[in-house]
Amino acid sequence: MNKGELITTGKAKSLYESDDKDYIILHYRDDTSAFDGKKIESLEGKGSINNKFNAFIMEYLEKEGIDTHFDRLLSNTDSLVKKLEMVPVECVVRNVTAGSICKRLGLEEGKDLNPSTFEFFYKDDELGDPMINDYHIRSFGWATQEQIDQMQEKTFEVNTALKKLFSDAGMILVDYKLEFGSFNGKLLLGDEFTPDGCRVWDAETREKLDKDRFRQGLGGVVESYQIIAKKLGVI
Ligand code: C5P
Repeated sequence: MNKGELITTGKAKSLYESDDKDYIILHYRDDTSAFDGKKIESLEGKGSINNKFNAFIMEYLEKEGIDTHFDRLLSNTDSLVKKLEMVPVECVVRNVTAGSICKRLGLEEGKDLNPSTFEFFYKDDELGDPMINDYHIRSFGWATQEQIDQMQEKTFEVNTALKKLFSDAGMILVDYKLEFGSFNGKLLLGDEFTPDGCRVWDAETREKLDKDRFRQGLGGVVESYQIIAKKLGVI
């Protein structure tokens, strides 16, 4: 499979056309960004670990009955995926309080949420990805009610599968962000699932092993991603 024209460059990935019009190539770069692109650094080895990590999770989710865009790994840093028409919203599930919900609602970090909570955000860096609700999604035509229901259902199905996967490996899946898109009229999980887009803590020490290490300047970012990957058996 050959890399064709560059379609677009995101903050951590570049998307290329492939030989097949229905598929694109995701190239995972070492670039790491936070605060809507205001903090950017290149962290050696991050692209390769995230590429492998995402492949492992997407294949695991497929086995659990969740349809994704993932097709196969092409190289250390590249994967082949179905070309989706993306819904411009981010679906966030939180199992434990952390990050923006703490700021927004004045909460302490680390409180278990029972039931887990769900939030939609509009994908727009310039606006700082504002929180939205399903009325906004329908009113602005970003998705239909059926797609909204499916995004919520699938995001919680992912939660059931991944909470157990991480917990069996001695970690807590605190929260994560998913994106969906349609392929021939069917809604599929798209984008990626990597430590760039979730929060994961060591279950015993509650040490942060995800991108909060970068956001909070804690260091050892790629090393922590490798720790998660080793615990899960990705590498
Ligand atoms: O910042 P916030 O607490 O809302 O993030 C919730 C979860 O979604 C975190 O795991 C974060 O890494 C992820 N997220 C993301 N991309 C964004 C916003 C949030 O991956 N643009």
